[in-house]
Amino acid sequence: MISLNNVTKQFKAKSGTITAVDNVSLNIKEGEIFGIIGYSGAGKSTLVRMLNGLEKPSQGSVTVAGKEISKIKGSNLRKARQEIGMIFQHFNLLWSRTVRGNISFPLEIAGVPKAQRKKRVDELIKLVGLEGREDAYPSQLSGGQKQRVGIARALANNPKVLLCDEATSALDPETTDSILDLLLDINKKMGLTIILITHEMHVIRKIAHRVAVMENGKVVEIAPVMEIFKNP
Ligand code: ADP
Ligand code: ADP
Repeated sequence: MISLNNVTKQFKAKSGTITAVDNVSLNIKEGEIFGIIGYSGAGKSTLVRMLNGLEKPSQGSVTVAGKEISKIKGSNLRKARQEIGMIFQHFNLLWSRTVRGNISFPLEIAGVPKAQRKKRVDELIKLVGLEGREDAYPSQLSGGQKQRVGIARALANNPKVLLCDEATSALDPETTDSILDLLLDINKKMGLTIILITHEMHVIRKIAHRVAVMENGKVVEIAPVMEIFKNP
């Protein structure tokens, strides 16, 4: 579903060249929940930004759902991005729109007709458990509810892949658990491939099948989660 082949990303800075991602190769299977863990500055965000085409690799190639995302541009890239949903640490909701309006937004961009949009938004609200909160604004929601809106919005156009960038890092442990349960449920129901970027071990331990450990731009280990946590 996702493959990175010898991907390197460098940035030019005053202090010289920064290698944010250093010759990374990865293959992620359809339906897999794949964790990427590492300290701040390890290169996780840069990696994710290359998965959705926000950054181009300096070297190597990135393929997502059969498309070489690192090569395509313009309207083709926008179309390819509809196959890739994303959720964020700070939710990135539209503050002037209600729950319904936020979830509807990507459908409007994709040109889905109004009646169809309404039906899809209703399904998504049910899927993430926000019935009764359709007309609330983000400022009226708890952190967990905001992330549920983020998830519903990310899934609106039926993506094949969901990228989660520190998606539970702003939430308390109990809320984190409920969001992870929801992601697990969606993975099982729809076979969605999920990439989880995090610095929190317990997030990986709870739902990931495999994990890659990043340090200084390199993947230093890839293993099934069971193996990584085998030794105390
Ligand atoms: P993480 O998400 O693991 O915290 P990042 O991918 O954000 O790591 O950053 C990896 C390295 O690349 C860091 O040293 C960071 O400062 C650098 N970096 C990231 N984006 C840029 C940029 N746009 N310009 C210059 N340096 C960057
Ligand atoms: P928390 O989940 O910690 O309560 P918030 O949801 O309040 O966090 O905020 C998440 C991010 O959105 C923050 O970066 C904050 O500055 C921004 N934000 C919060 N409220 C608004 C608003 N009404 N308009 C624009 N940005 C906002």
